[in-house]
Amino acid sequence: MCLGAELIMIKLSLSTIRGEPAVKYNVVHRGDDISIQTKDLLHELAAKRGLKQDINEPDLVVSVGGDGTMLHAFHMYSSKLDTTSFVGIHTGHLGFYADWKPQEVESLVDSMAAASASPPLRTVKYPIVQIEIATEKGIQTHLALNEFTLKGADATLVAELHINDERFEMFRGDGICISTPSGSTGYNKSLNGALLHPSLEAIQIAEMASLNNRVYRSLGSSIVLPKHHHCDIYPKKKMNMLLTIDHMNVQMNHIISIRSMVAETKVSFARFRPFPFWNRVREAFIGEIVE
Ligand code: NAD
Repeated sequence: MCLGAELIMIKLSLSTIRGEPAVKYNVVHRGDDISIQTKDLLHELAAKRGLKQDINEPDLVVSVGGDGTMLHAFHMYSSKLDTTSFVGIHTGHLGFYADWKPQEVESLVDSMAAASASPPLRTVKYPIVQIEIATEKGIQTHLALNEFTLKGADATLVAELHINDERFEMFRGDGICISTPSGSTGYNKSLNGALLHPSLEAIQIAEMASLNNRVYRSLGSSIVLPKHHHCDIYPKKKMNMLLTIDHMNVQMNHIISIRSMVAETKVSFARFRPFPFWNRVREAFIGEIVE
């Protein structure tokens, strides 16, 4: 064991004696060979540093895989966002939510042990979107880390959009995407939505292929709503609809309305080292700048 790790162990045992909380962690992984190997190594190193795994009440969830794995991890622990933070290791290409490489597992575990010895865990908080789906059976509430989308399953979506309880427009087209700032680089970007920095407490409404002619008209640009504003979507016909919430999708045919807003609660990511959002955007979409 290196001297650094020994010092961390000593600090950890002192903090445990003093009754200070130590970081309890869990791992959610993609299930492919490299993610399994990375997960096994993380558990081995974490055990050597005295870190405890806690599947039900972790302080830190380590996602090993890609952005999709982080979306799974978020939804597994979405009822515990006040006490749980996330960090991601990417076992494929660089992810938006996964910026640690498998070769850096030891360094990540050292950071976890250091945070355990000197709590609290340093985090950065990102806004998420809350959606409330009203059907004849009642209201279902969901949270999304990236976005929620609504599409007509068998026909063009026809829906009235209200902003802050005022009728805004009648939308006709493929669908509507409502994204978070950290999700603005996902589906929203493919819809030509703007990229929003996650320090902005906002949601973005982007259209999918709207019909715009002399008869039908919708705004055509995406809209950014601040915290405390809300958007209601009222589908016009009792049509079969396809809803996606991050990586999950469901068909529903009795939707009365869907309300979207910035959620009161945020998602926390462990900030063991800086990796600014705009650097992630540049690395993912631009790459090296050729002079
Ligand atoms: P997937 O396997 O089809 O992955 C889609 C891609 O989106 C992956 O490359 C992933 O790294 C990337 N991605 C996910 N979140 C991102 C983010 N916040 N910023 C930038 N890239 C991101 O599907 P999955 O793994 O189940 O992920 C679901 C996500 O895929 C959705 O939340 C949505 O954002 C995205 N998606 C995009 C499109 C599109 O661009 N046309 C269509 C469907 C879904």
